[in-house]
Amino acid sequence: MNTTPARNLISLPRAMLLGIVSLAPLASPAAAQTTPSATASPATTTETIRSRGFAKYSKDSAFRPYEFDRHAVGEHDILIDILYAGICHSDIHHALEDWRKEEYPMVPGHEIVGRIAQVGGKVTKFKVGDHAGVGCMVNSCRSCENCGNHEEQYCDRRVMTYASKDHYHGGLMTQGGYSDRIVLSQDFAIKVPEGAELDKVAPLLCAGITTYSPIRHTKIGKGDKVAVAGFGGLGHMAVQYAVKLGAEVTVFDITEDKRQDALSMGAAKYVNVNTSDELKGLDNTFRVLISTIPAKYDMAMYVKMLRLDGDLVVLGLPAMRDQPSVDAATLVFQSRRRVWGSQIGGIKETQEMLDYSVANRIYPRVEIIPFSKLDEAYQRVLKGEVKFRYVIDNSTLDASWRAANAAPAQPGQPK
Ligand code: NDP
Ligand code: ZN
Repeated sequence: MNTTPARNLISLPRAMLLGIVSLAPLASPAAAQTTPSATASPATTTETIRSRGFAKYSKDSAFRPYEFDRHAVGEHDILIDILYAGICHSDIHHALEDWRKEEYPMVPGHEIVGRIAQVGGKVTKFKVGDHAGVGCMVNSCRSCENCGNHEEQYCDRRVMTYASKDHYHGGLMTQGGYSDRIVLSQDFAIKVPEGAELDKVAPLLCAGITTYSPIRHTKIGKGDKVAVAGFGGLGHMAVQYAVKLGAEVTVFDITEDKRQDALSMGAAKYVNVNTSDELKGLDNTFRVLISTIPAKYDMAMYVKMLRLDGDLVVLGLPAMRDQPSVDAATLVFQSRRRVWGSQIGGIKETQEMLDYSVANRIYPRVEIIPFSKLDEAYQRVLKGEVKFRYVIDNSTLDASWRAANAAPAQPGQPK
């Protein structure tokens, strides 16, 4: 990558959470829906790649088959046949327009692992047959200060994996991993280490790096008192990393159902926030508290639990209508506690996370589903019924596609 710093991008709006909110303005629809595609690799690198996936056609629609174009495999690009794709809560926020008006049809999915089917002429990092992962980003400017510092997630010209206008490819809207294949620059794909458990790798590309990055940034280590609020896809990864690094971890969630899971992952304590007795005596306790909560909650309560100079790291991004906040009185009476957000991680750090996770066998707990269960999976995540990440088996695409096309269309929904 070009590492020449060009300009300071610190003014990037923090509310535009990378991996979930693209800075790109909305564009016209990517491609009209047509008949099912051939699946053969393209003959040249100038042909666009026809892809098939499952899309939302509006925030209220069910997932339906969708065929669309991806950009051609350029000299530095790779084409990946997708094997598995995780379902992140960000996908649900996006699909339901929790953060902004969206462009449809939308194929979500930014936790992707697959096998490389084609490489451009100047690709050096991968060869055909290698396994590769893709997270929330597929490109960035490569010349700004943040790109130069391997923090591409904070580049204001980054392109997100889906729901993003790809200004490096004529403004085509990107589409995500709930599909058969994806094309991207080799620089934004992650090498999957030999021996990795492939069905569990996909969620590491978002849930893994999003928690690993602030845990490394805050230098969590032996004996640190750390808390994780929200024990779902991101939260259960945060617990495993912090425990591995020797921290004493307390977990906060709203259900009894996950108490044993937290303890089995090495947490020292589990707090059901709906049980007021368990919340007593925790003020001034934690050096780092990581919040992955996707709903409205009492942020001030967690600020009060920080020790002097402690950090509340905000990862969860609830819908705009449900934003939590901290008042000035809390900040002043609980002085010198920091509250800051963090977005996924850079490509270099994502590779480090994946190597570390596989070497130490730190994986998400996953439930593998076919495409035909997508709508049900979304509902179950919203009801808190998944342990801990749904992962789509992309080899079910053909069967689910045929079944969906054979079923009568719902009123107002395209087939
Ligand atoms: P999940 O739904 O898998 O996990 C969320 C967890 O929070 C669930 O266990 C849920 O409980 C729990 N929870 C809900 N309300 C509360 C509450 N009031 N107090 C404590 N726990 C609560 O979501 P993900 O882990 O996939 O994502 C979490 C958030 O992180 C989302 O907002 C997502 O958009 C965001 N995100 C941010 C990224 C970043 O770069 N910063 C990257 C990726 C995601 P239950 O299951 O019982 O409902
Ligand atoms: Zn995600």
